[in-house]
Amino acid sequence: MKKISFMIPILSAAILSGCGAGNGQQDSGKLQVYTSFYAMYDFARMIGGDMAEIHNICPVGSEPHDFEPTAQDMAGLSKADVFIYNGLGMEHWADSAAETLGDDTIIVEASSAVPNITENSDPHVWLDPENAIAELEAIADSFSRADPDNAQYYMENLGNYRDKAKELDWKFENASENFSSREIITSHDAYSTLCSAYDLVQIPINGVDNEEEPTPARMAEVETHIKENNIKYIFTEPLSTSKIIDTISADTGCGVLTLDPFEGNLDNKDYFTVMNENLEALKQALN
Ligand SMILES: [Zn+2]
Repeated sequence: MKKISFMIPILSAAILSGCGAGNGQQDSGKLQVYTSFYAMYDFARMIGGDMAEIHNICPVGSEPHDFEPTAQDMAGLSKADVFIYNGLGMEHWADSAAETLGDDTIIVEASSAVPNITENSDPHVWLDPENAIAELEAIADSFSRADPDNAQYYMENLGNYRDKAKELDWKFENASENFSSREIITSHDAYSTLCSAYDLVQIPINGVDNEEEPTPARMAEVETHIKENNIKYIFTEPLSTSKIIDTISADTGCGVLTLDPFEGNLDNKDYFTVMNENLEALKQALN
């Protein structure tokens, strides 16, 4: 008898914790947030601080453009209180993944909060700090709705990072006024938002998904342009192979610098660290 009466509370506790996990609140009791890739993860952790548990779906060393979530990723995502993705085709799997989620998950397509965006816009909107603010605001709003008890905390974090983003924008604005050249040659077509914010011109060697190899004609065209315009530096980036960039550098004698689209950072750097490094690289190339 004793044994049986002892078992009942254990069983019901197990059932209760099982239900809790199904609703998204796991053992920590914190807000459960799932993000599609690193930029969204970093923005979510800025706002969530100690009050939210952020799970990033696309592993940090992978290119998010051709990432496919596993069944395990989808099982994790089903527990989300909030699911954040950028949108604009950045994550081709995310719209259909979002459709599988129940009504108790708040879905945030962060780029939809950015002003003047059309469905054909460059998906890499976060590279303009003003757009990053809009995405942070959408995230803070969703956290406050999902976890109203901590809304004030999320809004304070938003305020702090909004100030940092405004300061970053001001630094880019000031530096770009002194650029003597305005063209950047990149491997990946990821910087049109950044360029339009600071009056720069991007010459991408590859397309948006950064996977296709340029044709020999395209390579020759870019190399001729570099020589004729006496371009000193071209840009590679952390997650792509630099073979094409190395070839162009060897053929033309131009140097190679890193411009990071902040799609994944192996050193766990935050947005502001990476963007300040990007600014230093731009100054070196364009001053
Ligand atoms: Zn990209």
